[in-house]
Amino acid sequence: MTSIKPRLKTADYVKGVLQGDRIMLGQAITLVESNLLTDQQLAANIIKKIIDHTGRSIRIGITGVPGVGKSTFIESFGLRVISHGKKLAVLTIDPSSKITKGSILGDKTRMESLSKNPLAFIRPSAAGDTQGGVAHKTREALLLCEAAGYDVIIIETVGVGQSEVEVKSMVDFFLLLMLAGAGDELQGIKKGIIEMADAIVITKADGDNIHPAVEAQAAYQQALHLLPISPSRWQPKVLTCSAVTGSGLETIWEMIELYIEQTTASGFFLQNRQQQNVSWFNDNFEQLIKADIEQHLALKKSHLENKVAQQQLSPQAAAQELLEAYYHSMKKF
Ligand code: GDP
Repeated sequence: MTSIKPRLKTADYVKGVLQGDRIMLGQAITLVESNLLTDQQLAANIIKKIIDHTGRSIRIGITGVPGVGKSTFIESFGLRVISHGKKLAVLTIDPSSKITKGSILGDKTRMESLSKNPLAFIRPSAAGDTQGGVAHKTREALLLCEAAGYDVIIIETVGVGQSEVEVKSMVDFFLLLMLAGAGDELQGIKKGIIEMADAIVITKADGDNIHPAVEAQAAYQQALHLLPISPSRWQPKVLTCSAVTGSGLETIWEMIELYIEQTTASGFFLQNRQQQNVSWFNDNFEQLIKADIEQHLALKKSHLENKVAQQQLSPQAAAQELLEAYYHSMKKF
């Protein structure tokens, strides 16, 4: 884990974050990610105090298989977003990695110019070793970034599993990056992820790759037309871009602005945020109960697990017994 710095008081972190102090923001996120109970309590207190200052950013999820060009895209697109007078935060999730000595995805030079830009804040965060998983920590980091005045927050995840669903549940707009490929256009990415996308962007549309990119664009557009209309009533778009030449990037930004405009006018934007907040609350509650059971009833639970494994007890009966044991333990407090 990150090296332990002496902790400050809640009010100091709150003040620093609200002033947009990047060092304090970074330290507050470290508290959020910490597995130490005292840090978690401090983080919870900070979040409680800043909650009124959150919710005002555009939250964008970006995913795609390794090599599709995510970091190159975020770097070019991010600089463009900044050129529109926005402050940008990028939270990167790699579910398979643990952060070691500040390096993530084995590449220290990811998003180099963006990371040097005073209007950008980049924070890698590994999900591999955190309790409560990626969603919990990233959501809190997102709130801290909002309180620190970031107008646009990109949450990047590598397209290999469960984290996409979690990211979708915390963003306003979900962008899937795809390569123009030979053969099956839909290879490598699960259909479920395509269905979640508000837009697909075919990357690396430059040089000899322009033509295949345009072909892939048409194929995906056709595939998306076959999907049922999403609750947002937004018809997902397929665009092409090159992070190297910059072509298509402005159109992507305009599309996101249009989405925000349309879904705000229809009421979906707010409704979606409200639903996300409620499911976040439910997740938190479930997690507290789980942690409590692990803490007070670990032995009982493993005993029941053994019985279930041996078919001496039905899973349902075991669950009921654990719940009763939990009630019983609660009465002791
Ligand atoms: P990630 O693993 O998804 O983050 O992908 P990277 O951003 O690291 O990009 C993978 C490779 O594709 C790198 O060698 C990039 O230089 C290259 N690449 C990324 N974007 C573009 C692009 O727009 N055009 C071209 N020609 N190459 C690109």
